[in-house]
Amino acid sequence: MNYKSSRGQVSYVSAAEAIKKGIAPDGGLFVPEYIPELSEDIFKTLEEMNYQGRASRILAYYLTDFNEQEINNCVQGAYNAANFDNARIAPLFMLKENVYVQELWHGPTCAFKDMALQILPYLMTASMRKTGETSEIVILVATSGDTGKAALEGFSNVEGTRIIVFFPDQGVSEVQKRQMVTQEGKNVHVAGVLGNFDDAQSGVKNIFGSQDYITRLAEKNMKMSSANSINWGRLLPQIVYYISAYVELRAEGKVKDGEKINIVVPTGNFGNILAAFYAGKMGVPIGKLICAANSNNVLSDFIKSGIYDRNRPFEKTISPSMDILISSNLERLLFEITGQNAKKVSNWMEELKINGSYNVGEDVYQEVARLFWSDCCSDQDTIETIRHTWQEKSYLLDTHTAVAVNVYEKYLQATGDNTLSVIASTASPFKFGSSVAAAVLPPEMIAGRSEFELLCLLEEHTGVPMPDAIKGLQDREILHKTVCQVEDMGKTLADFLGVR
Ligand SMILES: *Cc1c(COP(=O)(O)O)cnc(C)c1O
Repeated sequence: MNYKSSRGQVSYVSAAEAIKKGIAPDGGLFVPEYIPELSEDIFKTLEEMNYQGRASRILAYYLTDFNEQEINNCVQGAYNAANFDNARIAPLFMLKENVYVQELWHGPTCAFKDMALQILPYLMTASMRKTGETSEIVILVATSGDTGKAALEGFSNVEGTRIIVFFPDQGVSEVQKRQMVTQEGKNVHVAGVLGNFDDAQSGVKNIFGSQDYITRLAEKNMKMSSANSINWGRLLPQIVYYISAYVELRAEGKVKDGEKINIVVPTGNFGNILAAFYAGKMGVPIGKLICAANSNNVLSDFIKSGIYDRNRPFEKTISPSMDILISSNLERLLFEITGQNAKKVSNWMEELKINGSYNVGEDVYQEVARLFWSDCCSDQDTIETIRHTWQEKSYLLDTHTAVAVNVYEKYLQATGDNTLSVIASTASPFKFGSSVAAAVLPPEMIAGRSEFELLCLLEEHTGVPMPDAIKGLQDREILHKTVCQVEDMGKTLADFLGVR
């Protein structure tokens, strides 16, 4: 299996090259040359396996330049009891008849980003070894909050790598910020950016595309890569849990062979839901992919109209990891549904860059509408959804998962479609504790409390245990204090790395 760029200007590379580079040199994203289809027999085999077994099996289709031992090492290094506090790794919880929540946040940083970022460092170092890499790999990350911590945790003290994270200084939750600025490790750097996530993401993309930076880093024997979901090594491990959910439901007799399921995903950069799309292409029978947005509803407008238009105010919401107006991974979807038409994709991305919008035209739009359904959810509805889900089901949702539950409820109302649905639960409620506390605790109890006091109250009054990773966070020493302007991200990077 080889990889090419969604913009068509790069010749085929191996999986190891694609993972090591992170982003294609023409500015596009690496995509697999084809999407493998799993036979009925394979699905039956996967039913019998645990999460690790399923992961090894599925990764092998895409990492054909890795041998079985190498893949197993990556999988065992990532998905083990030291890193995940649930032996099933990505357990399904039945919210009600025909509606399941897949908890993707049992990893060390309490968000679904761990599902990929625990394994990416293993994939990266194996890729470096296989390609005979002698440079240090500098991993640049722009984060809306969760990727940053998960990448720091994954790459901290990994030989041959440096990890640099830029986060929107005023745009993340208190717990997210604390998690990042207290990160230990001799190869880690963290900076707040005085802008929003899109600014940070564009800043990082500009650095990637700058020949000046490439040259200056090369003089220090350094090369850049990415741990954002633009890196294929981030996306691939995410396909596994959707297939795992499906085979688990089959094994338990909840779905019959061939019976369709819907998948509901709270969406920002379009990485997570794209992994579900790939799972569908690989043979998981999917009815609808339901894309849930917060009030930054650029994706739900796109799915309803075929017009992507980022020209709108950036909203700060209580689901900050989805506060994004430029969803990078949509590019990979468009590449697939245009029959891998790199020319069309390049033109749209050019229009997006120049005008902030593009229109995919009737045929592509029809295909988008066939595969996806989408709507958005306000902060008020997010709170209301956390409240009623707690009252009715005694199940505590985080703000992002609540957006997904709310949009799923809208879908049910609009379509009456009762197909079994799996809702991706992307974070522990304790990561966004003040909003969750506001939803489920009486106002007089929360008035005037600090974020960390609220977390304790939340644990005490709901009986839901706070993850160990969040306990004690307020007492950790703050190690990273850099804050920079968007225009100075390149300079900040150079300072961190000691390049002239
Ligand atoms: C990153 C993130 C999302 C959005 O996922 P994308 O892959 O960017 O669409 C949703 N919820 C949480 C908690 C996240 O951390």
